[in-house]
Amino acid sequence: MMQGYLECVKCKKKYEESIKTLTCIHNKYYDYLEYKNVVPAKNTVTLGQGNTPMVKLKKTGAMIGCQELYVKDESKNPTGSFKDRESAVLIDKAVDFGIKDVFAISSGNAAISLSAYAKVAGIRCTCYIPDHASEGKKKMIQLFGGKIVEMAGTYEAVYRKILDENISGWNCTLNPFKSAGSKKIAWEIYEKVGMPDKIIVPCGNGSNLAGIWSGFKEIAQMKKIAKLPQMIGVQVEGASPLKSAMESGNDYEILSNIADSVAEGIVATESYSSPKALRALKESKGSVLEVNEGEIKSALRHMLIEESLVMEPTSASAFAGVWKLNISGKKVIVLLTSGGTNTLSEISDIVLGSR
Ligand SMILES: [Zn+2]
Repeated sequence: MMQGYLECVKCKKKYEESIKTLTCIHNKYYDYLEYKNVVPAKNTVTLGQGNTPMVKLKKTGAMIGCQELYVKDESKNPTGSFKDRESAVLIDKAVDFGIKDVFAISSGNAAISLSAYAKVAGIRCTCYIPDHASEGKKKMIQLFGGKIVEMAGTYEAVYRKILDENISGWNCTLNPFKSAGSKKIAWEIYEKVGMPDKIIVPCGNGSNLAGIWSGFKEIAQMKKIAKLPQMIGVQVEGASPLKSAMESGNDYEILSNIADSVAEGIVATESYSSPKALRALKESKGSVLEVNEGEIKSALRHMLIEESLVMEPTSASAFAGVWKLNISGKKVIVLLTSGGTNTLSEISDIVLGSR
């Protein structure tokens, strides 16, 4: 079997698999490399991630005239989010490469997940987080044995500082291997319902959307199918760097003065996987939808009350997108990327109306 390799989505340069190669030469903060010809790891660390349920949303589908509206429920992963798929790939690689220290730059689900997987593999995990990160999530990181280093400033400031300082350990946030985990989401959807028409995904950095798209391209190639789904990314209104980059034609855009949002997992001035996410959006003739605070909260309430689905506000943003797209008669999958157990009190405040 041919060895896996990394390929730049911009200049097509190929790199051998290596722990030192995190991205291509264009910009050190942005993720340009796609992991191709994925070979199964020699050592596998699993907590039982993947094969998450797909549930038809009959009630909501009937309301909007979409008979095939499904949720792909990634909250059923071991630590409650799709990040477990990425962590499994990353920690497998870390074990194969003999790495003893990994780190995440994350204030939330990625750090929780990476800590859990690193722990079972006997690898040390450090999580660099902005000091305003939620207490509940910090506790989860600690429970899973992650070491927390709090830093002042926004997520973006922490991210850039860590990259500038060449911190020791393997960077599992800017890392070309991780989106191989998201590819499996595409395969699981395909095996259940065939090729869908649209996939709606909340986008912070955009790496999940990029990985899912790679998975669908792989399926189309292997099964000789011409049809591919349209990728729909959802970001917060006024804080949508992917949408700005789609319009400008650049690989990425950096926004300033964005408002805060309940969708803390995706509110961002920069999307660090922008080059890969944009390629997925363009190739699939997809788009970026913006949703506002009211729409996110009302989707969160609706999905909990009408469909008994608990999700983070970040995930609810994707469901808010359902009402803004014309999806009647189509086969549409909405990604529930993270469940609510890490932020349950905040969710109940929104649903019960105290904020
Ligand atoms: Zn390149």
